[in-house]
Amino acid sequence: MSSPDNNEALNEDSESARSLDFIRTKVKGETDSGKWDGRVVTRFPPEPNGYLHIGHAKSICLNFGIAQEFGGTCHLRFDDTNPTKEEQEYIDAIKEDIQWLGFDWGENEFYASDYFNQLYEWAIELIKKGKAYVCELTGEQTREYRGTLTEPGKNSPYRDRSIEENLDLFERMKAGEFEDGSKTLRAKIDMASPNMNMRDPVLYRILRATHHRSGDKWCIYPMYDYTHGQSDSIEKITHSLCTLEFENHRPLYNWFLDALEIYHPEQTEFARLNLNYTLTSKRKLLQLVEDGHVAGWDDPRMSTIRGFRRRGYTPASIRELCHKVGVAKFNGVTDIKLLEHCIREDLNKNAQRVMAVLKPLKVVIENYPEDQVEQMDAVNNPEDDSAGTRKVPFTRELYIEQDDFMEDPPKKFFRLGPGREVRLRYGYLITCNDFVKDDQGNVIELRCSYDPETRGGNAPDGRKVKGTIHWVSASEAATAEVRLYDHLFTKENPSKEKKGKVFTDYINPDSLEVIEQCFVEPSLKEANVGDRFQFERLGYFCVDPDSSDGSLVFNRTVSLKDSWAKMQNKK
Ligand code: ATP
Ligand code: MG
Repeated sequence: MSSPDNNEALNEDSESARSLDFIRTKVKGETDSGKWDGRVVTRFPPEPNGYLHIGHAKSICLNFGIAQEFGGTCHLRFDDTNPTKEEQEYIDAIKEDIQWLGFDWGENEFYASDYFNQLYEWAIELIKKGKAYVCELTGEQTREYRGTLTEPGKNSPYRDRSIEENLDLFERMKAGEFEDGSKTLRAKIDMASPNMNMRDPVLYRILRATHHRSGDKWCIYPMYDYTHGQSDSIEKITHSLCTLEFENHRPLYNWFLDALEIYHPEQTEFARLNLNYTLTSKRKLLQLVEDGHVAGWDDPRMSTIRGFRRRGYTPASIRELCHKVGVAKFNGVTDIKLLEHCIREDLNKNAQRVMAVLKPLKVVIENYPEDQVEQMDAVNNPEDDSAGTRKVPFTRELYIEQDDFMEDPPKKFFRLGPGREVRLRYGYLITCNDFVKDDQGNVIELRCSYDPETRGGNAPDGRKVKGTIHWVSASEAATAEVRLYDHLFTKENPSKEKKGKVFTDYINPDSLEVIEQCFVEPSLKEANVGDRFQFERLGYFCVDPDSSDGSLVFNRTVSLKDSWAKMQNKK
């Protein structure tokens, strides 16, 4: 069964009409010329040290997208070289999130840790070729010897060991004879290289840590840089697509492939996705979770795929964001309004309309019979005729929004005020005759009358009533908790930490507002976790997993106002 999440909500048929980005242009050129014998093999290579965030979605859409478009395959490979930070929980979550986004790696699930034997053999080969040596500098000394961007490094005193000695020491490193951190295996490249990555990088470290897959088999672990490129080579990847920060690593990856004389994928870099008011760093997201700034990885304020999902974002909207952002070589920051625009476009077409009152004000219709319940016809989605209609009960006592009444309204306020008439959507025209206040002077009840001739909302005499407001029946409504969200950070770029500040100083104290008792139309009693709705006039909402039998919790995904679309129209 296909999940409703994966409907092709957005205009993806126009995809072919979109112009090719520079990577697709390259891939097309190479497939046309037969460069890779017609093969297109990409990979998405996460480190399983956290949950995926919105930035990863760009890489996922690019790698899986290219494979789909060119009839190739995309591997899911976990670059799991750091056992102290990696967990099975993250692997499971990453897989689920990729599937939720609508992509499938089929049989092609790989782990760099499955290549540990091969990588070890290759390390021995590098030693035999005189291209790697065992070094005994401490971490601090290694940094000192490395030099800086403006100064060349110095050769390690262990650099010129004999091949035999290196082979012996490396073998004994593996056998567990030495303490953690006491020795490393390093490539012998060039300590004066202007590219710091080429200054005899560490290939192996001694680390007694249990790996989530290889257990305690190894006490030496290969470094990420030594692993990543060769893993691509082993998998016969054609196009290794990396974010820009790996541009400086490419010469090193190439050096390994050339030194080992093995299959050579081609690396191309593209710009990361950055969204304002949002973090795209697993380390920082982990800190938010661990320090309790948010309720978990799936907190609807988090920029994780989980967070967006729980908030009510659809996979299609996230894919559409990635399309709209495109693939380029320059780093920029994308306005979060663009993502909000994408989800509104999707939900506008696909979300059922319902009525809900978040800040209730009671309305008593004095001339309406006490026990009468009328079932009014309401349109489920004006954008989609096939969505049909539903019944909404109308009764003598209703709730409307507090904001829809003013004791002393200005002329242009087309909602309720003393003596004013308004249309209740799908209901009747009502007129406010009086109101009741509590001891503090708050208006707590409106006394109104309805015009029985106006069922459905139109006056037979043709009189104009400008305002239309939403409502729910007080006796028939379901109650619900509603959670409203704002940006998690007060600053556009929370990662840019001003002197003496850290990014958590920029957390928005008002990012979550919980309204414990709202009223929603009774049709929502049937709603399931994950269902999405437009609450008329209020925004798009999604049923939260905290809901249980008889208690509904909604997250506001996004409000109705589309400031991004507005900006575009002004241009
Ligand atoms: P983080 O900085 O959050 O830890 P990472 O790059 O270390 O991210 P990986 O698990 O290594 O995380 O990422 C897997 C893939 O996703 C890599 O190919 C990486 O380049 C890509 N990626 C990570 N962040 C982004 C981003 N913001 N935009 C596009 N691609 C990204
Ligand atoms: Mg990384």
